[in-house]
Amino acid sequence: MSNPVQRPDVRIIPKALMMIGEEAIRSRDGLETGGILLGTDDGQEIVIRHAGGPGPKARREFHRFLRDLSHAQQLAELAWREDQSQWIGEWHTHPSGDVTPSNYDLEAYAQHLHDPELGFKRFLTIIVGITRTDEITAVAWIVDQETALPVPVAVGDDREGTPAPQSPADKDRK
Ligand SMILES: [Zn+2]
Repeated sequence: MSNPVQRPDVRIIPKALMMIGEEAIRSRDGLETGGILLGTDDGQEIVIRHAGGPGPKARREFHRFLRDLSHAQQLAELAWREDQSQWIGEWHTHPSGDVTPSNYDLEAYAQHLHDPELGFKRFLTIIVGITRTDEITAVAWIVDQETALPVPVAVGDDREGTPAPQSPADKDRK
C-alpha cells in the first residue's frame, strides 16, 4: 500500500550539494537564483544526483525565480544519458533568509503537480536562505497535492562504486 503523505528518505550526492552552494554564493546580490534537481525516486528514497544552475535566460527577481526552460531541458537530457536521472524538483534561493516556500512557490509547484505531461506525484524543493551577510540555511521540502513538508536530507555518495576511503596513512602507522 502506498501512502502519498509518507515522507521518503532524501539523499544528496556531495557534488550536487556543492553545485548549489557555489551557485547560491555566487549570486548573493539580493535576487533569487536556482535551478532544477535531477535524480531518482524509487518511492522510498529520493536521491538528488545533479543540481542545475539558473541558465542564461533565467529571470532573477527579488521574490521569484523563473528558470531558463531550454537550459533545464538540456541539463535533463544530459543527466538522463549519464545515469537515468529524471527531473525530481528544484532549488532556489530566498534572499530574505526565509526558508519556507512562498505562496508564489506553492502555486508554481501545484501547477507542476497538476500537469499530466510532467507526471509528478510529488515534487522536491530545496530553499536556500541566503542573506547579504553570512547566513546560509537550506531546507528541503516534499510537496504533494495536499501539503509541503520539510524533510531531512542526508549527504552521501552511492554505496556501490564508492568504497569507504581507506587511508594508506593508517596502515603505515602500524
Ligand atoms: Zn521561493
